Amino acid sequence: MKKDFFEWLFKALKIDVNNTSKSGLENVNRYTRAGKNGKIIICPVCREPEVVYHFSWAAMTCPSCNTSSNKNDWLVGV
Ligand SMILES: [Zn+2]
Repeated sequence: MKKDFFEWLFKALKIDVNNTSKSGLENVNRYTRAGKNGKIIICPVCREPEVVYHFSWAAMTCPSCNTSSNKNDWLVGV
């Protein structure tokens, strides 16, 4: 009985994670706006979130992993 429960739990968690990674993020595009309070963008290399207040840059170096990524490679939550 316990084993069944854990199998069910792992299945449920896995489905949850997959859904989040598939539909939760999209690439920054020319329609992405920061707004007044800034926008959280996710580094495509290390997946660390950073806050930006404008998108008038072509590439940005991530403070966490020190990798420079093009604007269109950064991710935003949908
Ligand atoms: Zn990074």
